[in-house]
Amino acid sequence: MVMAKGRGRAGVPPEDATLKLMSHRILVVEDEPDLLDAVVFALRKEGMKPIACKDGEEALTLVKERRPDLVLLDLMLPGLDGFEVCRRLRASEETARIPIIMVTAKAEETDAVIGLGVGADDYVRKPFGLKELVARVRSLLRRSAEPPEAVGQPIRYGELEVDPARHEVRLRGKSIPVTATEFRLLVHLARNPGRVYSRAQLLDKAVGTDVIVIERNIDVHISALRRKLEDYGDRLLTIRGVGYKLVE
Ligand code: CA
Repeated sequence: MVMAKGRGRAGVPPEDATLKLMSHRILVVEDEPDLLDAVVFALRKEGMKPIACKDGEEALTLVKERRPDLVLLDLMLPGLDGFEVCRRLRASEETARIPIIMVTAKAEETDAVIGLGVGADDYVRKPFGLKELVARVRSLLRRSAEPPEAVGQPIRYGELEVDPARHEVRLRGKSIPVTATEFRLLVHLARNPGRVYSRAQLLDKAVGTDVIVIERNIDVHISALRRKLEDYGDRLLTIRGVGYKLVE
């Protein structure tokens, strides 16, 4: 077949050992069967190992059993919805740092999820192109794999500590679960206290510019950080029309 010929080499063994070692496990939680199939197919074509899942309860079980490298999570699911799944994953120390991309169907849904601060690392709105989705997955995998300049002493602000070496944020000695993106943002701001960064600069430093990401995503992560940092959240200042800074 012409299509098959265009897709790749003939005679590729079904189980390519090298590919298997390199491939990431992606848990795809989606209740629309056609869309689930399409996403699973697209990820597999990229050499990843998608794990298909149709509901929220199963998603929580599969995260524990299969330890995916990333979760692609539809918001509107029967039973346990994406919001609740995300909240539970973040609440458990074991699963708090798993990168999550939340898939929503409407702009209002994205806003609602953001407002509730469940802390997904990225948001994709339906309908999405499969190419764009794969690019987002890759981008998030990449930035989650590289700890942000994992060197140096913990940075202290009174009772708040940002520890790049241990990839940990502590408030009054207690570890605060932050997402990979939130952590990178906070490390960057904390290393340069008082300095104002534009959203574009923060995107570049913490989110990566290899895919088109709206600058508003930065606002989302900053809001989530403010909530998590409790009384220290006030130190993350919005500089109107410019961006953000962290003050001591
Ligand atoms: Ca759905």
